[in-house]
Amino acid sequence: MAVVNRLLRSTATPSSSILSKTFSSITSNTDRRPLSPLSHSSLHLRRDPKDRNVQWVFLGCPGVGKGTYASRLTALLGVPHIATGDLVREELASSGPLASQLSEIVNQGKLVSDEIIINLLSKRLEAGESKGERGFILDGFPRTIRQAEILEDVTDIDLVVNLKLNEEALLAKCLGRRICSECGGNYNVACIDIKGENGSPGMYMAPLLPPPHCASKLITRSDDTEAVVKERLRIYNEMSLPVEDFYRSRGKLLEFDLPGGIPESWPKLLQALNLDYHEDKQSAAA
Ligand code: ADP
Repeated sequence: MAVVNRLLRSTATPSSSILSKTFSSITSNTDRRPLSPLSHSSLHLRRDPKDRNVQWVFLGCPGVGKGTYASRLTALLGVPHIATGDLVREELASSGPLASQLSEIVNQGKLVSDEIIINLLSKRLEAGESKGERGFILDGFPRTIRQAEILEDVTDIDLVVNLKLNEEALLAKCLGRRICSECGGNYNVACIDIKGENGSPGMYMAPLLPPPHCASKLITRSDDTEAVVKERLRIYNEMSLPVEDFYRSRGKLLEFDLPGGIPESWPKLLQALNLDYHEDKQSAAA
């Protein structure tokens, strides 16, 4: 088993109390359009760094591996991995009042409105806080400048990790993505082998194949078709690249070019995050 020493570089600034503002009062600074009926919900976030664990954000294009690396880190750091894409898919699966509207948006590769996404995230954070969660790694949020401004207004984000991979690999990874319909395990059948050209390095990523008991139960996400992935990449460049700049200008962005698949990337990511990684000798010997 791996052991991690926390050597976290927290860039958070102290603040006195838990801050909770209504969404409408927050958005009034950034957008004076009338708010939808969903917008009365509150985004409650704990602010005092002494009283919480890390608050990190993972940015990156569709298929880059935000979920993979964010969930590995949350297991080490003891904070929840909160992926807004998962919250959207849960809402879709619940067949609640928003389901048909969301399904149309997601299957076209478009972004859900800021109001809806803030509402889903607020509910998730509130549920977590009542269970004693103190920190998070956000994956897939914020994706617009407005979302970033709202988040910045209610809490201090310590660090934003920007995962990067070339577009050919991103497309192949999305198209190769498979999920076990029974256990929810994530796999990838794509074998990515991009030759280096004109001085740019090549890239090899081995497939992440399912164990035999999952192999016959694999499904693909409905938005992982070539046309929809290309639209999601286009929308990322249009709406979410400015979010990278937003955090870069605040000195919070850590750029991380993935050097390959998980075996190559994971130790390097831990190193870049200043997290010491070493084998637990007792477990290794057992
Ligand atoms: P991706 O693989 O494109 O990063 P996600 O699983 O994070 O996809 O999200 C799936 C879909 O959920 C997105 O295409 C979008 O429609 C919606 N979604 C997720 N997060 C957000 C967000 N922060 N703002 C708006 N829409 C979102």
